Amino acid sequence: MTESAARRDAFDIFIIGGGINGCGIARDAAGRGLAVGLAEMGDLASATSSASTKLFHGGLRYLEYFEIRLVREALIEREVLLRNMPHISRPMRFVLPYRPDMRFDTQTPASKLLSLTMPWTRGRRPAWMIRAGLFMYDHLGGRDFLPGTTAIDLAGDPVGAPLDPVYRKAYEYSDCWVDDARLTVLNARDAAARGARILPRTRVVHTERLPDRWIVTLRDRDTGSESTVEAAMLVNAAGPWVKQVLEEVLHVGTRENVHLVRGSHIVTRRLFDHDKCYFFQGTDGRIIFAIPYETDFTLIGTTDKEHHDPDSKPRCTEEEKRYLIDLASGYFRNPISEDDVVWSYSGVRPLYEDGAKSATAATRDYVLKIDDRGAPLLNIFGGKITTYRRLAEAALDRIAAHVPGGTGTWTARAPLPGGDFPVDGVDALIARVRHAYPFLDAAWAERLVRAYGTEVPEVLGAASSADDLGRGFGHSLSEREVVWLMDREFAATAEDVLWRRSKLGLRLSAAEVEALEDWMHARRTIAA
Ligand SMILES: Cc1cc2nc3c(=O)[nH]c(=O)nc-3n(C[C@H](O)[C@H](O)[C@H](O)COP(=O)(O)OP(=O)(O)OC[C@H]3O[C@@H](n4cnc5c(N)ncnc54)[C@H](O)[C@@H]3O)c2cc1C
Repeated sequence: MTESAARRDAFDIFIIGGGINGCGIARDAAGRGLAVGLAEMGDLASATSSASTKLFHGGLRYLEYFEIRLVREALIEREVLLRNMPHISRPMRFVLPYRPDMRFDTQTPASKLLSLTMPWTRGRRPAWMIRAGLFMYDHLGGRDFLPGTTAIDLAGDPVGAPLDPVYRKAYEYSDCWVDDARLTVLNARDAAARGARILPRTRVVHTERLPDRWIVTLRDRDTGSESTVEAAMLVNAAGPWVKQVLEEVLHVGTRENVHLVRGSHIVTRRLFDHDKCYFFQGTDGRIIFAIPYETDFTLIGTTDKEHHDPDSKPRCTEEEKRYLIDLASGYFRNPISEDDVVWSYSGVRPLYEDGAKSATAATRDYVLKIDDRGAPLLNIFGGKITTYRRLAEAALDRIAAHVPGGTGTWTARAPLPGGDFPVDGVDALIARVRHAYPFLDAAWAERLVRAYGTEVPEVLGAASSADDLGRGFGHSLSEREVVWLMDREFAATAEDVLWRRSKLGLRLSAAEVEALEDWMHARRTIAA
């Protein structure tokens, strides 16, 4: 070994990509005692993993595609995840309005089978079919505490009030909400606490494959400086870039492909006053959700559009915005207008190419492919936020065949940082936090508990007044919280803080954002 090689950091596994899949694998592997490194070229969760619909869900609509394995795994997983992160996730009821004369242009395998066997159902999703789907949904994965499906008379229920009165019936079922970006960062933090080296803003630019190890060249985004590390095994968790990394960074040929499907969301002012989510079926056979969001807003999405280049930043097009507004307006009593839209975001699903004709039909399941022509490589295709923990377990099974150690599943019963309290304990924790910090108002305390859970006292320290938290950046964001995010949660810029560690970007003015950016820049400069 040369002297410079001897000085290189050496890992059991090195992960390319700091989205939910990369960070989930890093946490699981570090907890099993493996030496883990992870490089993310931007901020953690800066790509798909902060742009999802933010649901821990089985995926009711995937039943129409007979994706039974995926739906069952995801349904079982919901309660496992809720128990381990009751601060950043919560159970949610979903309201599916129904009227018998609804017509759909749907080409799902289930609707084709139905048209063949019962031609009179063509173009419809009969009520019995929806009830059968929901029955399966309730029972396929089993539930411990999430309530099952009920039928609702919309005329007599508050959830009917915001809807067009032509909808008189609905079904209500359970799924869950999660803060996707915080989920990713908490996995990265826990991985680091267990010994993993997490390198945000670091791009993997080059690799050399030897028979027994990889030499990996990393480039620091801020300084441009390059360094090398070694790893016994590489994990390609680059999401939408998985194929590009294979070809341009790993120089590995593969028949496997990734199908990039863009999904966009709009955020409007709050459109209704309750805490349930609507599930709207479009006449094109697709579905969208309208979800209560960040107290004062409603989140509506998503779309399914082909996206060809991972380097082309996804944006919600005017056409996608119009589509979401029109579909949702068909259900609400008061139609939505463009003026109601305060923000939009877009992400790219890195789906496994299974030859599906349409973006909507492409499988949402994950596929793991080992390449052992030389030092081993694991490529990750597809996946859901909901199945990230199971995907990580499956990845570790594959890794164990090539890297010694690393056996023994453990994450099913291990809370994420701040999540070590009962699943129904949020209100009690908010009350405790307000008792300890009487200067917090209800909204501030709730925001902090929903972000940091039992770690709120570590974030706030011995403060006995808002002034003790240092400079205020607006809307309850304090200097002390920003310091926590920079020192403990890998945040470097105002965008990291305002759009991924929190969603305070919805509230701060342009001047407030600029002041925060300047302050963070100055702090980074002093630290450097
Ligand atoms: C619109 C939409 C809605 C969705 N809704 C849901 C939902 O409600 N529930 C659910 O369970 N799932 C949902 N999903 C799916 C889920 O969001 C994705 O499956 C998941 O986020 C993919 O995570 P990932 O880690 O594979 O990819 P990413 O989050 O994209 O992470 C890959 C990372 O790799 C990095 N990278 C790439 N190349 C390099 C390199 N050379 N060096 C270093 N880093 C590199 C990128 O910067 C990126 O951050 C949704 C997806 C979309 C798009």
